[in-house]
Amino acid sequence: MISQLSAKRLKNSYKLEKIRHSLAHLLAHAVLELYPETKFGIGPAIENGFYYDFEFKKPITNEDLPRIEMKMKELVKSNIKFERKLISKEKAKEIFKTQPYKLELIEEIEEKKISIYKSGKFIDLCKGPHVKSTKEIDPQAFKLIKIAGAYWRGDEKNPMLTRIYGIAFETKKELEEFLKKEAEAEKRDHRILGQKLELFLFDEEVGAGLPIWTPKGTILRKIIQDYLYEELKNAGYFWVTTPHIGNLNLWKTSGHWELYRENIYSPIKIDEDEYLLKPMNCPFHVKIYKSKVRSYKDLPIKYAEFGTVYRYERSGVLHGLTRVRGFTQDDAHIFCTPEQLSTEVEKLLKHAIKILKTFGFKDFNIYLATRPEKFAGTEKMWKKAMNVLKYALNKQKLNYQIDPGGGVFYGPKIDIKIKDCLGREWQCTTIQVDFNLPERFDLNFIDKKGEKQRVIMIHRALLGSIERFVGVLIEHYGGALPLWLAPEQIWIVPVATRHQKYAKEIQKSFELSGFRVQVKDEKETVSKKIREGEIQKIPYILVVGDKEEKSKSVRVRKRGKGDVGEMELEKFLKKIKREIMR
Ligand SMILES: [Zn+2]
Ligand SMILES: [Zn+2]
Repeated sequence: MISQLSAKRLKNSYKLEKIRHSLAHLLAHAVLELYPETKFGIGPAIENGFYYDFEFKKPITNEDLPRIEMKMKELVKSNIKFERKLISKEKAKEIFKTQPYKLELIEEIEEKKISIYKSGKFIDLCKGPHVKSTKEIDPQAFKLIKIAGAYWRGDEKNPMLTRIYGIAFETKKELEEFLKKEAEAEKRDHRILGQKLELFLFDEEVGAGLPIWTPKGTILRKIIQDYLYEELKNAGYFWVTTPHIGNLNLWKTSGHWELYRENIYSPIKIDEDEYLLKPMNCPFHVKIYKSKVRSYKDLPIKYAEFGTVYRYERSGVLHGLTRVRGFTQDDAHIFCTPEQLSTEVEKLLKHAIKILKTFGFKDFNIYLATRPEKFAGTEKMWKKAMNVLKYALNKQKLNYQIDPGGGVFYGPKIDIKIKDCLGREWQCTTIQVDFNLPERFDLNFIDKKGEKQRVIMIHRALLGSIERFVGVLIEHYGGALPLWLAPEQIWIVPVATRHQKYAKEIQKSFELSGFRVQVKDEKETVSKKIREGEIQKIPYILVVGDKEEKSKSVRVRKRGKGDVGEMELEKFLKKIKREIMR
């Protein structure tokens, strides 16, 4: 079942694109009027808005943006028309003679005629499209948001220009909704919450993109990993452990050294050989498969590993836990016969969705990525595998979209992106068929006739990586993790020193039932401890004093609800046991 953007949505997005791109011109127009000596770079429409790059004579700051925005609104209201013209290169050079960046672009244009757009006093090199006139733009539906440095044409050898970003929508209401959502996203930012909740940290001296997990963060990782460990064991996987480095020759055989080098760190010299920090776990699992003769009766064989890999990411794209340089994949490889591929993919889809749902995600977007230009295997193999994936998706009654050419060179794949509570998409599960590694490593099995046959390999990660997934969980829940995931589930706050014994007793009985409980017996006021527990988003804070001790009960404070009253111990325990059932 392929869902497609409805024609109406496509039309709307086209209209919005024209509005955004036209606003980029109007931004440059406003800058031209306010700062006449400015040099102009380029100004495209982007997701949610637009930008324009400038070289200002005197640097501007964010404080200057309201003035520029005001000017833009004035221009919008004055009903300016956008007109396209085709002119000769000579004429273009004459028009832009004081604009070095534009002249550079003109030199590179291959067509004889050069397309320009004129809107009022402002002329830009541009192919369009644009709105017919500023009448089509709502002056209340856009906003300049920030300035940033950007190298001319993204090259650090070029001058640094000033980029002004704006956001724009068709209506004021849409703009307001967007801003509200942004503010909400900011509150949920896992980089800030992660520190507040004491889950992980980054340290300059350790290095960019290398998260350090605190005690609490490590418990959270362990909860996730323990859950997966059981799930996969029950699904017939074997857990394996492999080294963090491997001989360069291994990565030459696998093809990673040739095809993936830009993401691999420089070799480490050990004795006479060179080793690589592993960017992938696959070749190691391949070696386990190859360590024995495999019969069709043994298949499918599934190896799973929490494999920590290291990949180079440019410092500019690093982002909290969601883009890092070292991370732990919940990785697995499935070796099966061609006949088993369909069933295995089906099982994987079912399992992935079950697991994602357990973590509280209900909405998914599924993508089937097809053959890219450069590919391994034959066209026939690809076609067959694509049919298998489609069949599995249809059989599970899953809606999906085609991602044309988005497959990896070694085979087609299915990606599952989860939608969080703000509707943002996050890539998690990936299921990839591989025709390449079985060839490169000569991986076989003995079939029914006693003959050697090429095995099929599937790479798959369900959560993606533990780091990224924790980042997504924090943002989805705004840090208020469900009871089963909370590293500290219950705090017990004794009212006075004499209640400590009772508090410890309760702690013990909860711990026997598998709960993670802290007694907060520091010399601080009860209200301060409660406040602290609220900041840490502890699911339950239990206050115990004379009354509670006497009646074998607790005073319950539920996260987000406050004091919900006194409850008998047994009753409370029953309640949280029920809550924790997945
Ligand atoms: Zn334009
Ligand atoms: Zn793999």
